[in-house]
Amino acid sequence: SFIAAAQDKLTVGVDTAFVPFEFKQGDKYVGFDIDLWDAIAKKMNVSYELRPMDFGGLIPGLQSRNLDVAMAGITITDARKQVVDFSEGYYDADLLMAVKGSDNSITKFSDLAGKKVGLKQGTAAASFMKSKYKADYVEFPNIDNAYLDLQAGNLDAVVHDSPNVLYYVKTAGDGKVKATGETDSILPQQYGFAMQKNSSLTPKINAALQALRADGTYSKIYVKWFAKQP
Ligand code: GLN
Repeated sequence: SFIAAAQDKLTVGVDTAFVPFEFKQGDKYVGFDIDLWDAIAKKMNVSYELRPMDFGGLIPGLQSRNLDVAMAGITITDARKQVVDFSEGYYDADLLMAVKGSDNSITKFSDLAGKKVGLKQGTAAASFMKSKYKADYVEFPNIDNAYLDLQAGNLDAVVHDSPNVLYYVKTAGDGKVKATGETDSILPQQYGFAMQKNSSLTPKINAALQALRADGTYSKIYVKWFAKQP
């Protein structure tokens, strides 16, 4: 009789650049998602290989069954739930603006009117901003290039997920750029791992996530990357 082969390696799609959740350091990917996923895979006793790509390729990659799992601090939304499964939420975020350290003209999202603003293609932040706030938007497949354009003076602001903006600003150093817009609490959201629709992996990943919360591993990984308790 046919016996299912031992589970092959899972193919896990990962965003090329979303500090501090997944980013390249030397020749390997590091970050909160990378560590949390590795702990989940160990609990599930599965092996996997990472497949880095622009954010916009991840959900299509699940739909075409080229990926088993995708991670990128992916915002859980009703629209995306129509086409992929999500794990339970594992991180809370909202949106922030990065501006130049010397710029005091932008403190609220409504101050972006008439400004040149970087967004990341295909993200929840980009579609929300374009529908709710008028500005001169420029979209980038890779948010790091938007931050470089801000530093170079080609943009007035970059809007992206709060943990990404905060980590970028902290590591850019010297007050060259700063985060602003905290009081607006724009687009509160949760991140989840994404799987193919009706994947048999979804309940297993949720069970592993719960076990990692219960045994302290989740907190340990959180403190490592965010220097505070979850
Ligand atoms: N949270 C964003 C979204 O799902 C993606 C974050 C990122 O740039 N990877 O739209």
